[in-house]
Amino acid sequence: MNRELTKNAEDFINDDLLHSLINNTKEDVVRVREIFEKSKSKVPLSLEETAALLAIKSPELLEELFQTARELKRSIYGNRIVLFAPLYIGNYCINNCTYCGFRRSLRSAVRKSLSDQELVTEVTQLEDEGHKRLILVYGEHPKYSPEFIANTVKVCYGVKSGKGEIRRVNINAAPMDVEGFRIVKESGIGTFQVFQETYHKETYAKYHPADTVKGDYMWRLNAMERAFEGGIDDMGIGALFGLYDWRFEVLGLVSHANRLQKICGVGPHTISFPRIKKALGLNIDLPYQVSDDNFKQLVAILRLAVPYTGLIMTARESSEVRDAVIEFGVSQIDAGTRLEIGGYQEKREADQKLNREQFQIGDTRELDEVIHWLISRDFIPSFCTSCYRVGRTGEHFMEYAIPGFIGRFCTPNALLTLSEYLEDYSSSKTKEAGYNLISKELLKIKDARRREEISSKIELIRGGKRDLLY
Ligand code: SAM
Ligand code: SF4
Repeated sequence: MNRELTKNAEDFINDDLLHSLINNTKEDVVRVREIFEKSKSKVPLSLEETAALLAIKSPELLEELFQTARELKRSIYGNRIVLFAPLYIGNYCINNCTYCGFRRSLRSAVRKSLSDQELVTEVTQLEDEGHKRLILVYGEHPKYSPEFIANTVKVCYGVKSGKGEIRRVNINAAPMDVEGFRIVKESGIGTFQVFQETYHKETYAKYHPADTVKGDYMWRLNAMERAFEGGIDDMGIGALFGLYDWRFEVLGLVSHANRLQKICGVGPHTISFPRIKKALGLNIDLPYQVSDDNFKQLVAILRLAVPYTGLIMTARESSEVRDAVIEFGVSQIDAGTRLEIGGYQEKREADQKLNREQFQIGDTRELDEVIHWLISRDFIPSFCTSCYRVGRTGEHFMEYAIPGFIGRFCTPNALLTLSEYLEDYSSSKTKEAGYNLISKELLKIKDARRREEISSKIELIRGGKRDLLY
């Protein structure tokens, strides 16, 4: 692999600036309320404005922050939540990230890569549960070359079980060179995710030994720009919360989003904000563990700061935390998650086997239970992939920037894909709740002709038609 950075490569994380913003910004009620007002018009926030929100401490102002995030989410972005499943392909790894259950020094970890046949079995199981969107996850190892990854993507798309199919495959893998990203892109992926883990250089060096590939901070920081050069315009960034001060990481994520917007003309498609979880042999001092309250605050702040970016909350969080935080602007969650390699074809056991997975998950509910919960909270569970499949890439931008786009495309498609799920996979309890939600949502559609059009598509789905999209 050619380890050259792109020619514009720049260390755009200004540690001194971020620290001074954190240390010198005090809670300012008037300023904060101005920022709430501004955010309603979907303008991304500057680092200074983000720092003002990070400085909020008083309960009343925090409540206003949550309310602003909640309203932004409901009134501007709609009430869909996109569902996906992570699928771990292999856990061989040449790196030694001290927080990870896949790190090379862990001799007791059971190492495995799925063969094509095993992958087909896993995907079949996921399709039989109702999944349509996957994120494939890999350790960093010469085995997992761009060609290997591209092949696994093609295998996933090729599996058709009953009425099921995978309509979108995203990737979370080690950073590549431009050519590598191009090869993976050509296999038909959606988003490519690379998390910076921590934007703070000293901390980065502490958790990622210098004698490993991942020890190179700039190689990782520049990854999404190389991806863009390789043709990937759907970029997912993230930070692993708990390694350093959460406020620094939020400012790092906003700096990264601004940088991609400036260099690529498009911001990140998604931001992930995993909190560090228990992992095999994880015995490290974590003085920066993020509390549930701070977690809630950081999600609400991200919602306001990067309005065109999807927010992903994973099953690392417990069902209680997911329930408390989802309304502040989360747009995607995973469900029915198994992290053991080859784990979807196994019966779920009460105990997670940490020697076979990267970390412990918090939300172990099955997909159907998660869907039932979302419906009970008046969210529309969505498996929609239509923008991507009819060539409307950059859909997040269109969703938010084109007036009426959500009403015209996103909500109807979410209802159609929900109806497919209810017909083919759901329990009777979820089916009943789901069709009640669909009826309520149809009543919200003012234009009678459109309402009729969507209702008749749902009737077609109930009669056996599939893949009807807007
Ligand atoms: N090996 C590639 C890499 O490091 O970029 C691919 C992804 S790794 C399997 C997926 C992500 O899991 C990492 O980027 C990291 O943020 C997260 N992760 C690792 N250990 C974790 C832990 N103990 N708790 C929560 N998340 C963890
Ligand atoms: Fe390997 Fe990724 Fe785990 Fe680091 S986080 S040890 S690179 S799998």
